[in-house]
Amino acid sequence: MTFSGLECLNFDNQFTQNLPADSNASNSRRQVRNACYSRVMPTKVADPKLIAWSREVAELLDMDGDPFATNDAGEVFGGNRVLSGMDPFAMCYGGHQFGNWAGQLGDGRAINLGEVLNRRDQRWMLQLKGAGPTPYSRTADGLAVLRSSVREFLCSEAMFHLGVPTTRALSLVLSGEKVVRDMFYDGNPQRELGAIVCRVAPSFTRFGNFQILAARGELDVLRQLVDHTIRLDFPHLGEPSTETYAAWFSEICRTTADMIVHWMRVGFVHGVMNTDNMSILGLTIDYGPYGWLENYDPDWTPNTTDASGRRYRFGQQPQIALWNLAQLGQALVSLFETIEPLQAGIDLYSTYFNTECRAMMLRKLGLSVIEAQTEADTALTNDILDVMYPVETDMTIFYRRLASMPLDGTSDELDVSVLAALTDAYYRPEQLTTDYRATAIGWLHRYRDRVRLEGISDADRRVRMNAVNPKYVLRNYVAQLAIDKADQGDYTLISELLELLRHPYDEQPDKEQFAAKRPDWARERAGCSMLSCSS
Ligand code: AMP
Ligand code: MG
Repeated sequence: MTFSGLECLNFDNQFTQNLPADSNASNSRRQVRNACYSRVMPTKVADPKLIAWSREVAELLDMDGDPFATNDAGEVFGGNRVLSGMDPFAMCYGGHQFGNWAGQLGDGRAINLGEVLNRRDQRWMLQLKGAGPTPYSRTADGLAVLRSSVREFLCSEAMFHLGVPTTRALSLVLSGEKVVRDMFYDGNPQRELGAIVCRVAPSFTRFGNFQILAARGELDVLRQLVDHTIRLDFPHLGEPSTETYAAWFSEICRTTADMIVHWMRVGFVHGVMNTDNMSILGLTIDYGPYGWLENYDPDWTPNTTDASGRRYRFGQQPQIALWNLAQLGQALVSLFETIEPLQAGIDLYSTYFNTECRAMMLRKLGLSVIEAQTEADTALTNDILDVMYPVETDMTIFYRRLASMPLDGTSDELDVSVLAALTDAYYRPEQLTTDYRATAIGWLHRYRDRVRLEGISDADRRVRMNAVNPKYVLRNYVAQLAIDKADQGDYTLISELLELLRHPYDEQPDKEQFAAKRPDWARERAGCSMLSCSS
């Protein structure tokens, strides 16, 4: 018996067919010139075992059948069996890491298997992460460990169901091998379980794919990659031309802004917004030391590697995206006669982001944009900081509690008792001083007045707010619980969380424990509040 889903995969590999390949066929680490990719086979692993599967992603690929009935899915998505029609390759890209140009990076541990064209004519690239070394592996091993693979698998799918643009994850496979990692770079390497995630996206092209070609002056190849990207990923823009290039750059600026607005909405911190981790499609890509805001703190970053400069902290993500877009613009200069179209895209990012972000902040409060209210609304949304920041306040819980706080029946004087509705959101009740209460009540008065101005009932407001403020996100400590169990051979929590996170906006009364604020044990625990790039 075989897993019938594999036979449903219809490959159509445009990237490798249309773009220049590395002429060196060996799998040695090197600088790869005048090419967009290198063909490379996944490394075979000892004992692949499928431990998690996303049925929605399988559906996108037209796969049916039970992947757990045989070990075929493990063999294929662990990298041991290459199906006919696949054409495995690693992409060449560069990037700015923490603000500095790093030269060639490339798919050091990601191997694209091929492009699936589904029955709806949608194109999906399959990519194994952790499938062994490639010409781009530099000094590293090309592998991934179970903890980071669980995080990538679950978060990709959680983000999708939250409505955040993201790459997807089809499968999580244990390799049956151990991988050595020094998690905190402190001279304590451990042997950890190895794993492989099969990621799925229309394409995995990054800002860095264009940057490396521009940096090397390989302008012919650059134009080929741009034209290919427009034809395949942006067909609605029309045949490549100077006008199309301008429209394309503007669209990248807009979709990137959309992605960041979503991150700010749900409290997601990417952690490593290097230009090689920026998707040309505005998708969240490369789930490494990311984290979810627990107590609302715009300065928070989950990434210990970034602890000193906090370049990639929550509140700075919009500015970093802009900086990254400017680097991409630099790389595309040779396509244009003047830089005006690029400047227009950059300007668009700022105006579009500001408008969308303001609207999003209002939606989180159940409110709509009212032009005449712009100034007051900006103050209202900015001042939430004074309510959530001075005392440790769980952002996710705060908005859900605010949604069910009764406002329309309340007398003109809101009093301290209404704050009781927010009790669950506070990490340290002892911080609720008289001054704080007064500030919070003051803000609630303004909010209540604004709600009245729009004439929204409490019931309507709750429905609106609960549709944009998730009840369930992949809290850092919850992901860690799933990892701890998986390390012991128990994968049930991964499946349970995948199921839970399919409906992040719904109340799921029997799953309340996963909506609880971070417990004290997780405050300083590695993997819960501190993560490194070692994965
Ligand atoms: P990241 O910070 O994970 O986005 O990775 C930055 C660069 O390092 C990319 O080129 C990755 O492919 C590469 N890289 C990260 N981890 C490994 C690894 N274990 N083996 C080979 N290359 C890696
Ligand atoms: Mg990366």
